[in-house]
Amino acid sequence: MALVCDFRVVGLVQTNCYFLYNEETKEGIIVDPGDNADLLLSYMEKKELQIKAVLLTHGHFDHIMAVPEIKKALNVPVYASRVEKEVLEDPMANLSLQLGRSGIRIEADRYLEDGETISLLGEEVRCILTPGHTVGGMCYYFPKSGILFSGDTLFQESVGRTDFPGGSMKDLVRSIREKLFVLAPATKVYPGHGLTTSIETEKMFNPFAVE
Ligand SMILES: [Zn+2]
Repeated sequence: MALVCDFRVVGLVQTNCYFLYNEETKEGIIVDPGDNADLLLSYMEKKELQIKAVLLTHGHFDHIMAVPEIKKALNVPVYASRVEKEVLEDPMANLSLQLGRSGIRIEADRYLEDGETISLLGEEVRCILTPGHTVGGMCYYFPKSGILFSGDTLFQESVGRTDFPGGSMKDLVRSIREKLFVLAPATKVYPGHGLTTSIETEKMFNPFAVE
């Protein structure tokens, strides 16, 4: 049975927090619980989801602020890119200090390598390191369901900012062209902000990544 992808928009900068789940078994994962833990927890309760893991696309505050509360409530493992470890643990680098709130430090339970394949919800998930927005941005590709969580690497007809520490437009464009545009054209792309798109659409219309 195909997995269902739903989302809630959370926090100061309208971040997409995704829920990917199997409608029959109710097993699911959360991608980027960026804020509003109460809202996310009540969604999961209403849907009776059995959350198995939290995936983080990168360490910026707007993708991680609800992680401590989610972990406390559900006791689930947090997955993130190994290269992103410093950003996750450094309140300056993850931009949480600049908010005027107390800074946040996140430690993942499992650090992932580029190209690693993990198993979640009965599917293989390929972890694709896509530096550019941050040094250790990770996209998660579910080939069987044809789904990519692209974080702040690839947006609908746009790309993530590269003016934060560790950002590089050259790296970002290379990540997109060499590691994302090679995926199946019909792959649905679920970005960290804004609307859902597809690999095919972005290859045609993304002004930052089209040669
Ligand atoms: Zn970001």
